[in-house]
Amino acid sequence: MRADPRDYQLVSPGTLQGVLSLLSSEPKQWLPIAGGTDVMVLYAAGKLPNKKLVNLWNVPELRQIGVSPDQIRIGAACSYTALRKQDVISREFPLLATAASWTGGIANQNRGTLGGNIANASPAADSLPALLVYDAELSLVSGRGERRVPYRNFHTGYKQTALAPDELILDIVLPRRFSGYVVHAKKVGARKAQAISKVCLAALGRVTDGMIRDIRVALGSVAPVPLRLTETERTLTGKKIEPSLIESARRTVAQEIRPIDDVRSTARYRSAVAGNLVAEFLEKLALQGQPPNNVLSRWNGLPSAEAAREILPCCGSTNWAARMASRRPIIDETSLLAAADAAWRSLGESDWLEAFRSHPRIGETHPEKDSAPQSSAWSVEEQHKAAAADEAVAMALKWGNREYEQKFGRIFIVCATGKSASEILEVLRRRLHNDDATELQQAVEEQWQIMHIRLKKWIAE
Ligand SMILES: Cc1cc2nc3c(=O)[nH]c(=O)nc-3n(C[C@H](O)[C@H](O)[C@H](O)COP(=O)(O)OP(=O)(O)OC[C@H]3O[C@@H](n4cnc5c(N)ncnc54)[C@H](O)[C@@H]3O)c2cc1C
Repeated sequence: MRADPRDYQLVSPGTLQGVLSLLSSEPKQWLPIAGGTDVMVLYAAGKLPNKKLVNLWNVPELRQIGVSPDQIRIGAACSYTALRKQDVISREFPLLATAASWTGGIANQNRGTLGGNIANASPAADSLPALLVYDAELSLVSGRGERRVPYRNFHTGYKQTALAPDELILDIVLPRRFSGYVVHAKKVGARKAQAISKVCLAALGRVTDGMIRDIRVALGSVAPVPLRLTETERTLTGKKIEPSLIESARRTVAQEIRPIDDVRSTARYRSAVAGNLVAEFLEKLALQGQPPNNVLSRWNGLPSAEAAREILPCCGSTNWAARMASRRPIIDETSLLAAADAAWRSLGESDWLEAFRSHPRIGETHPEKDSAPQSSAWSVEEQHKAAAADEAVAMALKWGNREYEQKFGRIFIVCATGKSASEILEVLRRRLHNDDATELQQAVEEQWQIMHIRLKKWIAE
C-alpha cells in the first residue's frame, strides 16, 4: 500500500442532502465513493488525487430499485449482486444481468455498483454497452436540482463525462419495452470474469416477416467511449438476414469502430473480433420466428415439478431447480443463463451445500447423496482428464479430499472441466490454506461455473 490513511478524510453523511451539501461546499475537493472497487485500486497505488472522500454506500435513495409499469429505476449505488437478484432485470434486461455476472468475482459484485461503473468511465466497462442498447437515461442530482441525460450523451471522451463536479448519478432509468427481443451478450477477454474486456458486445434485435425491424448493437473497448454502432444498425434495418448481409455487416463494423493497440490487444484483433461478434448476433437473430431451442421449448411445456426435476442435474439444488421452473418460459441460452444466475444468487448456504453434495469427490464416480443419472454422467465427462491421473497423484488427491473434508466439513468443489489431476491437486492444496468463509465463497464460484457448463450442454442435446 503506497498511500498513508492519515492523509485522507472519509465522511459518511448517510443522507443524499448531506452528500450534496459537501460536494457543493468545496467543489472538486470531495470524491464520492460507492463500492470503492475502482477508488481503492487508485488509493492503494498512491494515485488517488482527492484526499477527501464522501461515502455513498449508506445513502438509501441511491440503493433502491423501483419498478413501474413502463420503466425501472436503478439507484446508482446498487451493487451487481443486487442487480442479479432483481427479477425484472433478469427477465427483461438480461444483457444487464449478464454484464453484472461478468464484473469481477463475487466479492467485487457484492461491492461494485452500476453508478461507479458509469462514473469511472472506462471504455472497457462491461455494463455500459447494455445501457446503450436499452436506451438508458441517467438522473443526475446536485444542490442545484435534478436533470435527466440520455446515457448515450454522458461519456464525452476517454474517461470524460457530462457530470459536473458537484453532481452525483442518482439513478439509471431503463424503459420496459424490449421484451420479445433477441438478445446477445459476449465478452472477449483473457477470461470471462476478473479480466478486463478486449471487446464486449451487447445487442438486441427483432425480426418480423423475415426482415430486421429494430436492431441495436453496442461494443465496449473498441473506441475511447462505449460505442453504439448506429451506421451498422442503419445498413441492417429493413433487410433480410443472408450470408451476404452478414459479410457486409462485418465490413461496416470495421469502418465504424476506432479500436486501439494497447497492452491487452491489438486494433486489428479487436476489429476482427468485433466483426465476428456482430456476425454471430445476426446468425442468432435470423433464427427468430423459427422454433426456439428444442430442449427449452419442450421443457417450457412441462408441469412444474417435472421441469424442476429435469433441470436439477445442472445445479443440484432443489430450490434452484424449483425457481428455474417458475421462471419459464425461457427462450434462449442468454435468458437461460441470466435466469439461472438470478436463481443461484437467491439461494442460501444450505442450498449451496445441497448442490455440492450432488457431486462425487474428485477421483470418484458416485456422490454421497443419490443424484440423477444425468448428473453422474456429466461428472464423468467433467472429470475425464482428471481420471487419467497416475497412482501417486490419485493417492495425493484422495488424501487431499480427506484433509479438506476434515477441515471444512464438506466436499471439495472445483470446476474440473479441462483440468488435469495434477492441476486439480494444485488447486486443492492452495485452497486448503483458505479460511472457512473465503473457501465457501470459492466453492460457490466453482459450483456456479459448473452450473453454466451443464446448462449449455443440456440445451445443446
Ligand atoms: C478485482 C476487480 C475486478 C473488476 N472487474 C471488472 C470487470 O470485469 N468489468 C468491469 O466493468 N469492471 C470491473 N472492475 C471495476 C469496478 O469493479 C467497476 O467499475 C465498479 O462498477 C465500480 O463501482 P464502485 O461502486 O466500486 O465504484 P467506486 O470505486 O466507489 O467509484 C468509481 C468512480 O465512480 C465515482 N462514483 C461512484 N458512484 C458515483 C455516483 N453515484 N455518482 C457520481 N460518481 C460516482 C467515484 O467518485 C469514482 O470516481 C473490477 C475491479 C476490481 C477491483
